[in-house]
Amino acid sequence: MTFTTRFAPSPTGPLHLGHAYSALLAHDMAQAAQGRFLLRIEDIDRSRARTEWEELIFEDLIWLGIAWEAPVMRQSEQMDRYRSALEMLWNQGLLYACSCNRRDILAAATAPQEGGSPLVGPDGIVYPGTCRHAGARAPAACPPEAALRLDMAAALRRLGLSEIRIDERIHQGPCVKSAGEIIETIGDIVIARRDMGTSYHLSVVLDDAHQGITDVVRGADLFEASFIHAVLQRLLGLPAPRYHHHRLIRDAAGKRLAKRDDAKAIRKYRAEGLRPEDIRAMVGL
Ligand code: GLU
Repeated sequence: MTFTTRFAPSPTGPLHLGHAYSALLAHDMAQAAQGRFLLRIEDIDRSRARTEWEELIFEDLIWLGIAWEAPVMRQSEQMDRYRSALEMLWNQGLLYACSCNRRDILAAATAPQEGGSPLVGPDGIVYPGTCRHAGARAPAACPPEAALRLDMAAALRRLGLSEIRIDERIHQGPCVKSAGEIIETIGDIVIARRDMGTSYHLSVVLDDAHQGITDVVRGADLFEASFIHAVLQRLLGLPAPRYHHHRLIRDAAGKRLAKRDDAKAIRKYRAEGLRPEDIRAMVGL
């Protein structure tokens, strides 16, 4: 199968050195494999996504010497596919509606009977399960504007798997987790946010499959989330890609770069007269 990878930025701020590294590495790998490189705009968070940022992403990537296949996929245009997948999981009884807000979750997760300090997984505080038996479920209709959670224990029972393995090619972490570990340390993640009708996790697995991605190249900060993605791929009958979770580019203090680190924004380096080769050297490519 042709090596097919993608760069999937969210247009919520300027690209920084970390994004440049990820995009260049994926692009280089596709070229070396005589494969395909696609671009996907992950704009499901309508409250934060901006056209201006999307345009700047295109400009920065072109300047870096990156070329992608047309057309560019925009997640905001894929909502019907996300909804069908949600309804499929809902009808299997694997989702439930959750009405907890952040404060409720923190309070329940820090209650003395929970041990006092909340467990944090790849998706934030591991959900203490408040709505697992109280929230709406199939056969009730799938509510259109509600937060929906995946019942992780039910999902793993449905799959009949005692462990989940991911095919990881760079990151050194253990590539297998037992079902018990996934239930305990990841738990019932939000699969559709009330304000979005989807989530990063659901959209990313559906779109990687839809775009025929064989190789996902992204930062090591998303390594743990890959176990969520592996569960969803299996539930939805989607192929599982190979993963390449690369090292993170850090600032001088060793902190990983965030969108707000405008100091490391590619547009800033461009304005200062640096060349794409300088950016490659700065990220060690
Ligand atoms: N949209 C995600 C981000 O901006 C990338 C997700 C991925 O590569 O899977 O971090």
